[in-house]
Amino acid sequence: MKKVDLVIVGAGPAGIGAAVEAKLKGKEVVLLEKANETCQTFRVFYKDGKRVDKEYKGHDSNNRGHIPFEDGTKESTLETFEKALKEHNIDIQFSSEVESVKKTNENFIVTTPKQSYECQNIIIAIGRMGKPNKPDYKLPSSLSKLINFNANSVQKGEKLIIIGGGNSAAEYAVDLAGQNEVTLCYRKDKFTRLNDTNLKDIEEAGKSGKVKLKLGIDITEVLDENGKIKINFTDGTSELYDRAIYAIGGSTPVDFLQKCGIQVDDKGVPSFDENRQSNVKGIFVAGDIASKNGSSIVVGLNDGVIINDFLSK
Ligand SMILES: Cc1cc2nc3c(=O)[nH]c(=O)nc-3n(C[C@H](O)[C@H](O)[C@H](O)COP(=O)(O)OP(=O)(O)OC[C@H]3O[C@@H](n4cnc5c(N)ncnc54)[C@H](O)[C@@H]3O)c2cc1C
Repeated sequence: MKKVDLVIVGAGPAGIGAAVEAKLKGKEVVLLEKANETCQTFRVFYKDGKRVDKEYKGHDSNNRGHIPFEDGTKESTLETFEKALKEHNIDIQFSSEVESVKKTNENFIVTTPKQSYECQNIIIAIGRMGKPNKPDYKLPSSLSKLINFNANSVQKGEKLIIIGGGNSAAEYAVDLAGQNEVTLCYRKDKFTRLNDTNLKDIEEAGKSGKVKLKLGIDITEVLDENGKIKINFTDGTSELYDRAIYAIGGSTPVDFLQKCGIQVDDKGVPSFDENRQSNVKGIFVAGDIASKNGSSIVVGLNDGVIINDFLSK
């Protein structure tokens, strides 16, 4: 477990901006990015050569941060943010998707597949473009209401299969086992990405039979059998379920916020105060995640200034 002052989740402009402002205030900070490069919204959604405007859709264009972002192109904007990371010597960790954060006494624990961090404060800057990962095989569209990527639609008493081996999958399985018949299917033969609490809980649930564990077994096919989910497994068996939940990474931003205990309104916008602090004291939101329809690069940079000014008071 590594101890830092501040963990920032998401290395888009808001996350990078917040990291730079924190570093300038003398904080020990780590920036966690799920992809293997920075700024996924720029890279995935901007066309090559796209003009990037500082004044965007009527948002505040007065940049109060220390990253010298000006009008440019996709390429020059990426260069500006990459340069800022290097110049300020930011500790950035790639392939580090955060699934949720946990509060323990005074501090927070943030877990990624590679490392856990203990910190006093967290800034969530994950944007609004995330979506859940889907399996490689085809899922029947006729079952789309019963094949989910979170546990929000589960009804008491349903026979469930949860697919995945990360913290979300383990938490869903343990939480739902009190009211449902639950199978957890994970293609690897042991859990390697769980935090200590989830590992203990799922192992106990597996031993006591509360959760049926199918480890080292993958799914070959999902079929619609008279409105039920028929799953064929690599060990040659097959079984019917009422509902399947895929928890194989890439949750939506709203799921992420809810898992952190942050209240969201019916548009998926988190509640936060004038310092961008959410209802969970110590967790802040910055950039697009703190808006209904997305904001702008300058707004994200200014959020980092507001939060770090508040944290340094
Ligand atoms: C087509 C298009 C054109 C635009 N043009 C402009 C423009 O000209 N000028 C302007 O100011 N704005 C523009 N915008 C808006 C601007 O891109 C966004 O406001 C800005 O990218 C938001 O920054 P962000 O850091 O909040 O989120 P993002 O840029 O979305 O970055 C979030 C980062 O968090 C990472 N992440 C997500 N979940 C996790 C997780 N669980 N763990 C770890 N990392 C995670 C993502 O991979 C991503 O890298 C445009 C947007 C689009 C879609």
